[in-house]
Amino acid sequence: MVDSIYRRYSSLTSKTVMRLVFLGPPGIGKGTQAKMFSKKFDIPHLSTGDIIRSEIEQKSSLGLKAESIINSGHLVSDDIMLNIMENRLQQDDVKTGYILDGFPRTIPQAEGLDKIIERLQQRLDAVIALDGDEETVIKRISSRRSCRNCGAITNIHIDSIKEEGKCNHCGGELYQRDDDKPEIIRKRLLVYQKQTEPLINYYRNKSLLLKVSGMGTIKEVTNSILLELE
Ligand SMILES: [Zn+2]
Repeated sequence: MVDSIYRRYSSLTSKTVMRLVFLGPPGIGKGTQAKMFSKKFDIPHLSTGDIIRSEIEQKSSLGLKAESIINSGHLVSDDIMLNIMENRLQQDDVKTGYILDGFPRTIPQAEGLDKIIERLQQRLDAVIALDGDEETVIKRISSRRSCRNCGAITNIHIDSIKEEGKCNHCGGELYQRDDDKPEIIRKRLLVYQKQTEPLINYYRNKSLLLKVSGMGTIKEVTNSILLELE
């Protein structure tokens, strides 16, 4: 098993360029897998949040625009997001590929991305859509606790906790972030279904879609993705 996966992986890494998009509902482990594959293929992991933050830090004109929108409590428009992506996808470190995580999020963004990669003479290799049972995802996220002191995340169903309500690393108080509360997760899942799920058909029609279950362990999901990518 390990051998055959290793062989597949070797044949994948002999590809000179790899451009992937990761899709999936909140809590499915999309960011974790994107990071794993970024390491495996030695290509940058481009998460929307990181890209916007770095534009803001550089005080670029787009960054300043995005910052004032975010500070006024609004979402960055598709136009600005696409401009930011177009800049990012031209930088030197993505010459051998990239992994997009959190972008595109809507059909207009996906259509915009198509135009950008055409202009840049790039091509997507695959769109990996992680999916899973909603109740399992809600259970998974709502069992997360964060440490008020060091920020470490503990899963009360998976990790063995040395002292009830306390962080294993520093003894700080564990609490549940608003984002990890079931009612908030349900809302985020609804937004995902409405805005992002249509992308699954969009990419299926372009023959780029690889659907993978996100329900196993991190390693199992990684191996399933590798098998699909072959
Ligand atoms: Zn702690």
